[in-house]
Amino acid sequence: METVNRKRSAVWNHFMENGPKKARCSYCSNELSVSGGNVGNLNRHLRTKHPTIKLVEERQQQQLNGSAGPEPHIRPVASIETQDLPRATSSSSQPSIQNYTQSTKPLPSRRAEQIDEQLVKMIAKGHYPFSMVEDDESKKLSSLLNPQYALPTRKTISESILPKLYNKCIEKVKSEVQVKGQAFCLTTDGWTSINNDSFIALTLHYISTTSDETKLKSDLIGCVEYNERHTSENLKAFLCDVMAEWNTADYTTAIASDNGMENCE
Ligand SMILES: [Zn+2]
Repeated sequence: METVNRKRSAVWNHFMENGPKKARCSYCSNELSVSGGNVGNLNRHLRTKHPTIKLVEERQQQQLNGSAGPEPHIRPVASIETQDLPRATSSSSQPSIQNYTQSTKPLPSRRAEQIDEQLVKMIAKGHYPFSMVEDDESKKLSSLLNPQYALPTRKTISESILPKLYNKCIEKVKSEVQVKGQAFCLTTDGWTSINNDSFIALTLHYISTTSDETKLKSDLIGCVEYNERHTSENLKAFLCDVMAEWNTADYTTAIASDNGMENCE
């Protein structure tokens, strides 16, 4: 019973169940306790730590309300309007079409989430600015593709969708490394940005073995700002922390770094 109730609460969209009485936040990975199926704790955490996340839910709620609720009797008016309006005023008829489709079919929140994720993947891989979602032409494109979908704001992307996707990705790679990984090596590369901030990128190389196949895999496991002095002690401590976090400390046989870092010693 308890589990069923827990699953039903919408707040679980933002947490992963971690054992019988624990929940892990999808955004900051903090662990919270859930006693007796009481999710008040989780709601409070979202409200105080991730105030923008409510926006996502409200947005999805609006999309859902667009079809259910007391709206439908308003919608037919909108659709008649669309028919009556001459085609030429397409800019003003567009919202009506949008209203009409919203009233017929809601965008399931799972679908909206899927689109959000794909959008963030595109931004991350293409190095696009977050501000692209607030661009008028992007909004037009999005509404042409799917009028029921509303683009998230920059803030929602940077504070909720991106960190959630990031954590999901890290968890996926971590579990793959832990389940299939053998014989680890680490390579690092360090550089300084135009703004004089130092970064280190870490790539984990390992042999991935399953019953079907064995292959060499390389995963970028971190690209972090590193402003400590690049002495060998500092770097050793940093790398040990990373290996401990990834549970590979006992199995890592070699670490290779480029000249840049060694020269800093
Ligand atoms: Zn959190």
